[in-house]
Amino acid sequence: MAYFRDNIEKAKGYVAGFQPESTDVVKLNTNENPYPPSPEVIKTLASIDPEKLRRYPDPMGNAFRQAAAQVNSVEPGQIMCCNGGDDLLRIAISAICDKSRSLAYPVPTYSLYVVLAQIQGCQVVEVPFDREFNLPSKLAATGAALTIVCNPNAPSGSFISSGELACLASELKGVLLIDEAYVDFADQNCASLANDFDNVIILRSMSKGYALAGLRFGYAIAAESLIEQLLKVKDSYNVDVLAIAAATAAIKDRMCFEQGRAKVITERNRLTAELQKLGFVVLPSHANFVLAVIMEPKAAQIYDKLVERNIYVRYFDIPGLNDKLRITVGTPEQNGTLLGALREIL
Ligand SMILES: *Cc1c(COP(=O)(O)O)cnc(C)c1O
Repeated sequence: MAYFRDNIEKAKGYVAGFQPESTDVVKLNTNENPYPPSPEVIKTLASIDPEKLRRYPDPMGNAFRQAAAQVNSVEPGQIMCCNGGDDLLRIAISAICDKSRSLAYPVPTYSLYVVLAQIQGCQVVEVPFDREFNLPSKLAATGAALTIVCNPNAPSGSFISSGELACLASELKGVLLIDEAYVDFADQNCASLANDFDNVIILRSMSKGYALAGLRFGYAIAAESLIEQLLKVKDSYNVDVLAIAAATAAIKDRMCFEQGRAKVITERNRLTAELQKLGFVVLPSHANFVLAVIMEPKAAQIYDKLVERNIYVRYFDIPGLNDKLRITVGTPEQNGTLLGALREIL
């Protein structure tokens, strides 16, 4: 007998962006925030009572639920804490999809969706975006049990209005999960749809907008009826004591959040303009990265030459993306180093 289920043996697994050992590199490949997290996070972690570590954490993370509910104008019962946004994706897919209940999403998008679907053993319906990354009209008619729209989308940085997503939610018979991992850098979000629809799950991450990728914390916003079902599927203690305390401190520090967000947006706009001057076609981005298109020299060659200079960006060797580089917005200094290197290479 095979040791593993057939779909596991056949699956490729998720390929994460390269994490260099050395800190002496310009790392613009995995969309981390270039600024440190809120000083309140550091204070909170430093003052943790060891007694709290001896005990199991609050399984619901209620301190965080309250704070996140306030920020998003929903009830605490509409929030579920997760071990990173990725945990919510796994919970939602295993709660909603199976062999006869498919998963649909527009492509290209976050490459984890297909990996999780393979593990779950559900059918996948991939609906291509057009060149401008508009919401594909066919997405409403796939009959999928779960539809995911990444908004802002990765790796395009493109954005679909909450009005359009509300229309999609009303057309779908199944659940719509809106992956808002990057929404902290956009002008609008869909949190209110969690009040208006009983089939919408909003995914949020503390990794990008709050500079806590190492902490592993994300959350769902949805109608209480949906949260109740999702809670049955999560690990009983999916978020730990340190993470609950740190994430709560971070989301409460609105000033730090707003300042960090504003700095990234300013640099995103500068980076976009400078890349365009160098001959890249850059889609307007609503996230903390840009997708830069170039014909000559080849994106793969530019990538290699940047690595030689200890500068890491993301290159996807797949059709539709192999003429593009996805570049995380760094500090003004990091972006300057990248632009200087690109000027030499081109
Ligand atoms: C980063 C990211 C997430 C969630 O990341 P976590 O670090 O697990 O919170 C989800 N979706 C997309 C598209 C992302 O880029």
